[in-house]
Amino acid sequence: MTQAQIGVTGLAVMGANLARNLARHGHTVAVHNRSQYRTKALIEEHGHEGAFVACDTPEELVAALERPRRVLIMVQAGAPTDAVIEEFAPLLEPGDMIVDGGNAHFLDTRRREAALRERDIHFVGAGVSGGEEGALLGPSIMPGGSKESYQALGPMLEDIAAKVDGVPCCTHIGPDGAGHFVKMVHNGIEYADMQLIAEAYDLLRQGLGLTPAELADVFEQWNESELSSYLIEITAEVLRQVDAATGKPLVDVISDQAEQKGTGRWTVQIALDLGVPVSGIAEAVFARSLSGHAELREVSRALPGPSGATAGSAGEGFAEDVRQALYASKIVAYAQGFDQIRAGSTEYGWDINPGSLATIWRGGCIIRADFLDRIREAYEAETKPVTLLAAPYFTDALILAQESWRRVVVKAAELGIPAPGFSTALAYYDALRAERLPAALIQGQRDFFGAHTYRRVDREGSFHTLWSGDR
Ligand code: NAP
Repeated sequence: MTQAQIGVTGLAVMGANLARNLARHGHTVAVHNRSQYRTKALIEEHGHEGAFVACDTPEELVAALERPRRVLIMVQAGAPTDAVIEEFAPLLEPGDMIVDGGNAHFLDTRRREAALRERDIHFVGAGVSGGEEGALLGPSIMPGGSKESYQALGPMLEDIAAKVDGVPCCTHIGPDGAGHFVKMVHNGIEYADMQLIAEAYDLLRQGLGLTPAELADVFEQWNESELSSYLIEITAEVLRQVDAATGKPLVDVISDQAEQKGTGRWTVQIALDLGVPVSGIAEAVFARSLSGHAELREVSRALPGPSGATAGSAGEGFAEDVRQALYASKIVAYAQGFDQIRAGSTEYGWDINPGSLATIWRGGCIIRADFLDRIREAYEAETKPVTLLAAPYFTDALILAQESWRRVVVKAAELGIPAPGFSTALAYYDALRAERLPAALIQGQRDFFGAHTYRRVDREGSFHTLWSGDR
């Protein structure tokens, strides 16, 4: 019997498309799914695309694989992933590999990796970005796990990943949960990017009174600028879409309650644990939550807005101001995401190379953007930036953008248009560059009511003041 180079179990949209991608690249792929109809459908519809071995059971799949065996799991994250690992692990031998390409929480990946290491099985938590289309045509892949497992698996993953300038959008991220951690932050950045684009749309629509079709033109133009990215490109397409049933712009008939699957929330939860201020991502997650609070929004509609503000009154130059503000806020969001990755890497001893991340996010994934090349350059420079904001290219961009950025935040407040992403990004920027922060006052308050002590700027040590309020 033909020995397959890799097995894929879980043949819903992502698993089936990754299996097809592997087969199209000349690999023999053993395929399995709990419900056999999916395996049958894959073979019937796409069997001609390459070499597949259809398997009805985990035992059949394992028997079909060459050694060391590579089993890629593409099932629902959480308990289903644990269940599938438990099904396969007893069938495997030392040196074999289980790859989880689902959206697992990195702490689960760490737990699974440690447990399987005890059994001499390599466990690779691999973040896969790019959705359905990326999985088929070339995703961005972020594999964690041992270096040894990457040697055996990497060439195959690099083969099916997206390529930019001939460079695969896949690299070994680091041990155990590093790959899924990075994928989580990638998704958090994606939330922030989408929120900022949505705010830009809202500001232009309300501030200038542009129609969705006119805004589609604006975003199309912006896609020719330093903002050039997949998300800006699809924004133009979404805005241009007309609803077949009503003839209205589709964006006007879509419910304005954004949903979320959880990776953005995880990013913020973990950022809180690590003490990293990812305010752009947090605002994006909260903005989605707020949008979903129908009752809260309903009762709040009667609250007064700014007097004298009229829609469409933002004036000349506003569109360019918004474009600059979007770019500056986006730089902040990415800088915060990369800070979180550095903090995670330090906390868990992963030694993640941020430049290589910027490289593998240039293609295949949802946040692919031209400016990731600038991020890569910043991290490849001889002097590594402590924050991306301090890298010369980005500092220059912020200098250029900041007056516009400030005008947009002011105008948003004047017109009563919510712009939490733009505002928090600007506040973060101003807080970072502040000579002195009011945190000194907070330390004073803490010492006043709780004798928490404070440090001084002019002497070493911890100090407590006998405040007049002390009893
Ligand atoms: P999904 O809807 O998340 O999961 C469905 C698959 O999981 C089916 O094959 C199902 O088998 C299997 N499954 C569920 N519980 C199982 C169990 N207890 N035992 C065995 N199999 C079980 O599929 P998906 O959208 O293709 O996503 C797969 C993974 O990739 C997920 O972790 C997802 O978060 C991640 N991901 C998705 C995207 C995306 O754009 N969709 C992008 C990146 C990553 P049955 O057919 O038998 O029910």
